[in-house]
Amino acid sequence: MTTPQVCTRCIMDTTDPEITFDEQGRCNHCTRFFDTIQGVHWLPNGEGKRILDETIAKIKNEGKGKQYDGIIGLSGGVDSSYLLCKVKEWGLRPLAVHVDAGWNSELAVKNIEVLCKKLDIDLHTIVIDWEAMRNVQVAFLRSGVENQDIPQDHAFFAALYRYAIKKRVRYVFNGANFATESILPAAWGYDAMDSTYLSAIVRRFGDGNLKNFPVVNFWEYYIYYPYIRRMTVVRPLNYIHYRKCEAIRELEMNYGWRYYGAKHWESRFTKFFQGYYLPTRFGYDKRKAHLSSLVVSGEITRDEALEEMKKPVYPPEHLESDKAYVLKKLRISQEEFERLINSPRVAENIPTNAKLKMWARHAKKTMKTLFR
Ligand SMILES: [Zn+2]
Repeated sequence: MTTPQVCTRCIMDTTDPEITFDEQGRCNHCTRFFDTIQGVHWLPNGEGKRILDETIAKIKNEGKGKQYDGIIGLSGGVDSSYLLCKVKEWGLRPLAVHVDAGWNSELAVKNIEVLCKKLDIDLHTIVIDWEAMRNVQVAFLRSGVENQDIPQDHAFFAALYRYAIKKRVRYVFNGANFATESILPAAWGYDAMDSTYLSAIVRRFGDGNLKNFPVVNFWEYYIYYPYIRRMTVVRPLNYIHYRKCEAIRELEMNYGWRYYGAKHWESRFTKFFQGYYLPTRFGYDKRKAHLSSLVVSGEITRDEALEEMKKPVYPPEHLESDKAYVLKKLRISQEEFERLINSPRVAENIPTNAKLKMWARHAKKTMKTLFR
C-alpha cells in the first residue's frame, strides 16, 4: 500500500478517493472552507451577531401568544446541548425533542434529562418503533453502502419535523455548525435525507416495509415544510464564537452534563459504525474530517490533529463488547457480519432524488425572482 498524500493545511488525505490538491499541496476541502464558507456562512463576528440578534427578535415577535418560540432536537451530544443553553440564555422559549432510535448511550440520556431540568425546558421524547428501525438498519448493512447512519439520521429529522408541524412550531433550532463540522467528503457517505434512496435500499435488501419508520419524502422536505408550512431551520452556532472544548467545559461546569468521550459516541451504533465499520470496510476514518474541521476553524493546530490521529481509531478495550452489543441488538450473527464486512459492495445504481433536487434548486431560484 502506498502512503496517502496528506493535505499541507488540514489533515485530509487520499483515503478520500475524490480529493484534489493545488500546487502547494492544499486540498479541495480546506480550500472550499476558506473560499466559500468563512466570511459567508460562518460568521463568528460582529456581522454574525447582528444577523443573530435580528433573527432572535423576529422569532420572539412571532412567538407572542404561542406556547413555544421553536423546537430543538436534542441528541445528548455537545452541539445540540450547548445550543439549548444558548437559546435559553437569549430568552427564547424552545420545546426540546429527543428522538430515541434505540442506540442512546446511558450518558446521552442522562445529559438530556439533566439539561432540560436545570434549564426548565419542556422535553418531549419520541421513541422509534424498534422493529421498524432494526428492519431498515439490517437492510442497510446487507446493502454494504458507506453511510450506515442514514436510518438513524433520517428517522431523527423525519420525526422531529413531523412533530414540529403537528405542534405548529415554525422555527427549528439546529446545532449543525461550520466551526466543528465544515469538512466531510461526499464519497464517505451519501445524504441521509434522500427518501428515494432509503426506500430503494429497504426494498432491495430488506422486505420493503417502512410502515412504522418515520420517512420524510421529497415533497415534504423540499416544498411542503419550507414553503407551504414556512418551517425555518436556524443554525445559530454559525453566528457566535463556538469552540467545542469551551462548550464542553461550560456544559460540565454549569449543568452537570458529562462528555461521552468522542464525537458522536452519544449513539452506540454511530460509535461502532464510525470507529469500526467505515475504517475496516472502506478505510475511511471520519476523525480526519472532524479534526480537519477544527483545524480550519482555528480551534486546534494541524500538529495537534496529527497527534490525535496517533490514537487507535477504536479503543481496543471497547471493541469486542461494543461489537457483540450491536450484533445482538440487530440480531445478526457474527458469521453474517464478518461476511458482510468482507464482501464486495453489492449496492450499485440505487435510485436517488438527485434529479428532482436539481429541479427544486431551479424552482427555488425562480420563486425568489418572482417574489422578490
Ligand atoms: Zn486540506
